[in-house]
Amino acid sequence: MQATKIYEKAERLTQLPPYLFVEIDRAKRKLQEEGKDVIDLGVGDPDLATPPHILERLKRAADDPANHRYSFTEGIRELREAIARWYDRRFRVALDPHTEILPLLGSKEGIAHLPLALANPGDVVLVPDPCYPPYRSGAILAGAEVVSMPLLEEQGFFPDLWALSQKAVRRAKALFLNYPNNPTAATATTEQLQEAIDLAKEYGFPIAHDAAYSEISFDGFQPISFLQLPEAKSVGIEFHSLSKTYNMTGWRIGWACGNAQLVAALGQLKTNLDSGMFQPIQWAGIAALDGDQGSLQQAVATYQARRDLLVDALAKAGWQITKPKASFYVWAHVPTKEPSMEFAARLLEQSHVVVTPGVGFGPSGEGYVRFSLTVPTARIQEAVDRISKTL
Ligand SMILES: *Cc1c(COP(=O)(O)O)cnc(C)c1O
Repeated sequence: MQATKIYEKAERLTQLPPYLFVEIDRAKRKLQEEGKDVIDLGVGDPDLATPPHILERLKRAADDPANHRYSFTEGIRELREAIARWYDRRFRVALDPHTEILPLLGSKEGIAHLPLALANPGDVVLVPDPCYPPYRSGAILAGAEVVSMPLLEEQGFFPDLWALSQKAVRRAKALFLNYPNNPTAATATTEQLQEAIDLAKEYGFPIAHDAAYSEISFDGFQPISFLQLPEAKSVGIEFHSLSKTYNMTGWRIGWACGNAQLVAALGQLKTNLDSGMFQPIQWAGIAALDGDQGSLQQAVATYQARRDLLVDALAKAGWQITKPKASFYVWAHVPTKEPSMEFAARLLEQSHVVVTPGVGFGPSGEGYVRFSLTVPTARIQEAVDRISKTL
């Protein structure tokens, strides 16, 4: 029997970019169903466990009926205060917990919603290419026009901001930046971020900086916060998250902070969309931020050892690849002449190793693949051995 079609998708859904990893996902699942041993260096999701003291706090808070009711969109005061303390300790940035911090149900939620709060249909949102997908999809869902800012290796994977068309920057309602960067693993300097602030002030649009990887860095390098720049708070906000820092991706806890007007606009939107975060998660988040940071140091040491193993081995095998200073990704040139999608598909087929083709993050990602350092060293070694045999 023919199913009756009872709806047409809203146009905004049809305008979202196609999900480019369908083929690779399908091939991966097929191999796994056949019982093949697939090593997945594709997903950006920590394999390490959430530290025990954070779990303990969740469990204790879950037993208290006072925590079972609706929270507020703006979260409990204690969480906003803990975030303010952490920003002060970590970056020497002062934040008002009442007006300059907004908890989010994972930072992705706030990132994807921000254009809905700032842009009208036809306005421009400036988005890096390659990038974390929600910058682009959030802008599209808001009906905005996405203007891509290529991240090129010769420019340190920072956009050439003053090369953007006047027409685009005049209509811009938001500029997304992300350092340490996913997928390129690049970091930004104060001077680069200052350039963005200068442009934003000249043309009058807000900056949203995503700092999800600020705590994952190597060899003594300390990433900066966008908010450390003196004028940052007058033009922008920073997104942050417990996901990568404390292995809490499934928990959904992050925040936006900085410019009070931007925080208020996003907050106003969110009161109409959600009713806040489960309170035990907020209490556990406080335990994460205020608690012992030993497990974070251990996680960073783990990622660093994995990075060294992967990069040293691939470089020896002739790959054009450098050691990232931050994030848990390695961004490498495709070592053959194949397009990144074909190369990744072949690697999966022949060596049962998943890597993410760079083009999936945007056209300027073509020619690269991204490795995630989220599997144990023995598996990374095995992956490198298989890859070398294949090529
Ligand atoms: C993982 C990631 C996040 C964090 O997302 P959550 O929704 O907080 O889990 C944000 N930005 C980038 C670039 C990421 O890779």
